[in-house]
Amino acid sequence: MERKEMLEKLKGKLSDKRFVHSIGVEYTAACLAMTYKADLQKARIAGLLHDCAKCLTTEEKLKKAEKFGLNINKSERQDPELLHGKLGAYYAKIKYGVTDKEILDAITYHTTGRPEMTLMDKIIFVADYIEPNRKIIKELPEIRQEAFTDIDKAIVHILKNTLDFLREKTDIIDEMTEKTYIYYLNLLGDKL
Ligand code: FE
Ligand code: FE
Repeated sequence: MERKEMLEKLKGKLSDKRFVHSIGVEYTAACLAMTYKADLQKARIAGLLHDCAKCLTTEEKLKKAEKFGLNINKSERQDPELLHGKLGAYYAKIKYGVTDKEILDAITYHTTGRPEMTLMDKIIFVADYIEPNRKIIKELPEIRQEAFTDIDKAIVHILKNTLDFLREKTDIIDEMTEKTYIYYLNLLGDKL
């Protein structure tokens, strides 16, 4: 599917704010792809579509995930918002004609990350957090710099802030987020 067609379709599915965010992620992912020599077009598509299932209601997210036979873990059942990555990848495939596994994986893992992320996973995970329309939250300027100098460092920093935030707000934390944090913390070791 051409980008123009994807844009039109996506616009009908997302709130204005989420649509603007998605385009921000698309271009930020493109910049990161230039920096780290990843596939520019794939990064753009993954960035553009990463939240394509975000604007369903919480109830719908769970219902659709069940209907499509996606794996639903315990935290996703408690907080179906967590499903928008998996569901987004599914929609990218069936509604936007994306077949590339790298793109679909990057969409699947954009909220939690995963241990041993591919370069494309990392790019979308980071672009989602730093894109220019994001409101300034704690340490965002530093994370934005790290994103372009040491992407693994940016990942640890983002996960740490996310976990701190979640621990304060809720007791539902996807265990994948914690696994990813521990993995990258160990990987970086002394570099931090
Ligand atoms: Fe998202
Ligand atoms: Fe997003």
